[in-house]
Amino acid sequence: MRIHVLDHPLVAHKLTTLRDERTDSPTFRRLADELVTLLAYEATRDVRTEPVEVTTPVAVTTGTRLSYPRPLVVPILRAGLGMLDGMTRLLPTAEVGFLGMVRNEDTLQASTYATRMPDDLSGRQVYVLDPMLATGGTLVAAIRLLIARGADDVTAICLLAAPEGVAVLEKELAGLPVTVVTAAVDDHLNEQGYIVPGLGDAGDRLYGTAGD
Ligand code: URA
Repeated sequence: MRIHVLDHPLVAHKLTTLRDERTDSPTFRRLADELVTLLAYEATRDVRTEPVEVTTPVAVTTGTRLSYPRPLVVPILRAGLGMLDGMTRLLPTAEVGFLGMVRNEDTLQASTYATRMPDDLSGRQVYVLDPMLATGGTLVAAIRLLIARGADDVTAICLLAAPEGVAVLEKELAGLPVTVVTAAVDDHLNEQGYIVPGLGDAGDRLYGTAGD
């Protein structure tokens, strides 16, 4: 497993405003969207392409286009939905699948409650969207499911990560074709499973606390 922590002043600036408890939901959604686009730019560095002939007003030349099968983008519900627009803005021709996963707040174990994606992901590059890599349980379960369906290259895009979660992924997904791209690896996880200093509950910050 590879991890890539983006070192860029715009990423640090947007992340700082996301962390600020005074940032309201509309601003949080907009900034998360912008930050995902910056992370997606880096995450798609190895997206598969093929040469294509293009005629400019001046000459015929060889350009590049995304190859088939198209990449699959999979937001993990609910908070991953807040990252979808930022990702598809950069990869408009990608297919989108959905994975509903919920974390038991007592055991911190992840379980799947909804899956909507192709059964066969053979040869597919998959981009998983999950804002917070905390304990790592949700991402390990999600990435195992994708690889079990045949995905041969999985990139997880996370706004923030905890060192504990990174260590879990490194252990549980050792040897698998997995990359994590994130804006920062924070200090630690607290006893409630929150990233410290973090930004709080990403789902609540994006969408409010409706349904709680
Ligand atoms: N999920 C969140 O939304 N925030 C955290 O800090 C950890 C998990």
